[in-house]
This record gives sequence, structure tokens and C-alpha cells, in this order.
Amino acid sequence: MFKCDYCNTVLKTERGYMEHHCEQMRRTEFMRTREGHLAFQSYNTWMRAQGKREQTAQIFLTSMYFLPFERFARFLTEAKVTSYRGFVGLMVKKEIDPKYWTDHRAYSMFIEYHDTVVPVEEQIKLTINAMLKVVDRENKNISEFFDVVDNSELISLIQRRELTPWLLLRSQKFINKMRYMTEEQRLIIAQMIRAPLWAIKFKNNPNIVDDINEIIFDLEI
Ligand SMILES: [Zn+2]
Repeated sequence: MFKCDYCNTVLKTERGYMEHHCEQMRRTEFMRTREGHLAFQSYNTWMRAQGKREQTAQIFLTSMYFLPFERFARFLTEAKVTSYRGFVGLMVKKEIDPKYWTDHRAYSMFIEYHDTVVPVEEQIKLTINAMLKVVDRENKNISEFFDVVDNSELISLIQRRELTPWLLLRSQKFINKMRYMTEEQRLIIAQMIRAPLWAIKFKNNPNIVDDINEIIFDLEI
């Protein structure tokens, strides 16, 4: 007789034992990966943000929140997010259950959080670096960024906020580029950059807008 250490299922044959896979086994294996660590860490960040005690990995493994935090860890990895504490705090404040953190609305809240918390200079620096990476690859000048970058790469750069709306929306070349996109691509961008919200930001920050206009003029982007 062979018994699974994870779920205590008894298998009659060795072959059955070798081929046995169960959710507990899967979870234990996931916990050994980088994403698994991230899931566990963000779970405890969430516990602390609610004023609750941190839990052990053993408790997390059988928790009803295991799957939501597994999804959240994948979301963070895909979005290349390194700092999620502020986001977790925001979710607690808005009383949004971790089950919903990876859905559409949570993603746009995450974007808004990123746009508000990361200093503008930092966002501009990230943007120029991302542009340089693309044009260097193609052996072009930064002024040719919008000629070189294709629409899907542009969209994923915006999605990860490696390109900031602070700069994009002030660039005539970006506005022109949008004109030649498909309806679907324009819609995706509209969801990631809520124009009315940015119009207000621009209106409230004329000095920043002046600086950005100057950068755009100098770099011809
Ligand atoms: Zn098992």
C-alpha cells in the first residue's frame, strides 16, 4: 500500500502512487517557486494591513485565500510590479476582497495607484529608458520611437506603465500613431489611460505640463 503524504489518499499500486497528483501536492510545489513566495508574502502583507496576525505557510496552504493570492502573484509577475504594498493597503481601505484583485476593475485601480504614487520625474525617467531600449535595438534615434515601435509592443509598455500617460498624451506623434490603430487597440488604450482623468491632472499641474512639453520638444518625441 502506498499513501500520499499530502492528502493521505491510499493507492493500491506503486504505479498509481507515481501517477498520483493532488491539489495539496500542487500547492506545496508552487510554494517552492518564486511566485509561490510572492503569493505567501502578499497574503501576509494583506493580513498585516488588516491589523491581523501573520500566518504560517501551513495555514496559507489550506486557506480559502490560497488561489486568489496565487492568481495575484501571477498578475504581479506579468505586470512586472515590484512594490505591491501600497496596492494591498488600497484594497483593504476600499474593502475589496482578494478574490477580485486580479479582475478588470482592480487592474485599473492598480494603474491609478501607480500613476498617483510614483513621482512624475520617476515615471518620465522610466519612459525615456523604455523608449531608448526600443530604439537602440533598432539602431534608431529616440525621435523615431513612434515609427519603430509596433502597436502591440506599445500597448504592453503602457500596460506595465513603462510608458507614462504624462508624456504620451502630450506627444503629437503618439496621438498620430493612435489614428492608425485598429478600433480594438484604441479601446484597449482608452481603458488603460482614462483621458478625462488625465485632462484634470494636466489642468491641475501646469508646471509639470510645461516641463514635459519641453522634454518632448527637445527629444522630438
Ligand atoms: Zn495526494
